[in-house]
Amino acid sequence: MRKLELHWKIIIGMLLGLVFGFIMTQVDGGKDFSNDWIKPIGTIFIKLLKLIAIPLILASLIKGISDLKDISKFQLIGLRTIVIYVITTIIAITIGLLLVNFFEPGNGISNETISKLTNTYAQNSGVQDKLAAASVQKETGPLQFVEDMVPDNAFKAFSNNRLMLQVIFFSIFLGISMLLIGDKKSKPLKSLFDSLNDVVLKMVDLIMLTAPYAVFALLANVVVSSGDPDILYALLRYAIVIIIGLLLMIVIYSIIVSSFTKKNPFWFLKQISPAQLLAFSTSSSAATLPVTMERVEEHIGVDKEVSSFVLPVGATINMDGTSLYQAVAAVFICQALAFDISFADQLTIVLTALLASIGTAAVPGAGMVMLVIVLESIGFPSDKLAIGIALIFAVDRPLDMFRTVVNITGDATVSMLVAKSVGKLGDPKVKNWDDNYKNVKG
Ligand code: ASP
Repeated sequence: MRKLELHWKIIIGMLLGLVFGFIMTQVDGGKDFSNDWIKPIGTIFIKLLKLIAIPLILASLIKGISDLKDISKFQLIGLRTIVIYVITTIIAITIGLLLVNFFEPGNGISNETISKLTNTYAQNSGVQDKLAAASVQKETGPLQFVEDMVPDNAFKAFSNNRLMLQVIFFSIFLGISMLLIGDKKSKPLKSLFDSLNDVVLKMVDLIMLTAPYAVFALLANVVVSSGDPDILYALLRYAIVIIIGLLLMIVIYSIIVSSFTKKNPFWFLKQISPAQLLAFSTSSSAATLPVTMERVEEHIGVDKEVSSFVLPVGATINMDGTSLYQAVAAVFICQALAFDISFADQLTIVLTALLASIGTAAVPGAGMVMLVIVLESIGFPSDKLAIGIALIFAVDRPLDMFRTVVNITGDATVSMLVAKSVGKLGDPKVKNWDDNYKNVKG
């Protein structure tokens, strides 16, 4: 497999994983074998990616900011990033709403299927966990989100991947303070973070070497743990509506890339593809972040001053795929359970899905928790929430894989756009995983 490009190796790994997973579901003891011997390979891979996420954000953001010549540029980058993120999310939600109202996938679903899904999933611990997590989330006040961004202990923030926004806050604070004390005094610290940044990027390269094997394990595990095919089939129309919406988002990103940055969209998709394939396999924007950063900086040519801020922030707050899914799923559930919603309710969905996607953690299945909050915002009866979530639970994992791809592609697109707008989109500086390998081999 040596000469093939990385994305082809990953695709082959995924396909073999699917086939292997299918075979394991057909043979006696296959599921146990897969759980005991194959699943850990995927889990270790995700752990390695998460392991380097915080050091990477810290090093690259501090380097990015302390390289700035003036702070006003950073304010410009920050403001543009947030505004463009909000715009792309609103586009995604609108596409979701248009599609679900046009195709009405919820109206075609029979009462028999509804009761089958309810009986199978309403009491399922997965569904109950999502409802419990949503009620905790709901208790929080409107400014809680901002309050949560400010850490009171830097080391506590570094110790939890879910506190990524706190790490971003700390890094920006430190980077700006370094600028303010001047080059001479900040030099030792800057060299330290520069070097840490290079080392962590090398760690990404090394981890990526194992990606084809890891995605094999991850996909085999998805197949082995997926539900009854009949149930999946009943939800096919709903799933197809979401997938059409997600594909449209990729088309929109391509149009944005070609019209605003004048780059070929196919080239863009090819450069970013290893990150997309990992997003698909891991269902986690946060785990994919190190690879997204590496691809965007080294293979697309976005300057670190932009990518080191836009991408980690995007991984946490910009989830176009997730918000599109939430819009479709909310209306689908209302259609299937004959709960009438007005135009005003649909506008409420736009607003809450926007806020929900910001508040959604970048981990598998998180979008479903926030979906509960979207449903509640339009007055969906709380005693029916478990039934509503049960309806879509069976296909959530595969859809999560697709929406995570869109989430990270959106982040990459916006990073190009912002970089272009501040003159920081240059030529790619591709580095190979084995650069310098000979030197240390001796
Ligand atoms: N898995 C998604 C992500 O990490 C979030 C979600 O939609 O559940 O981007």
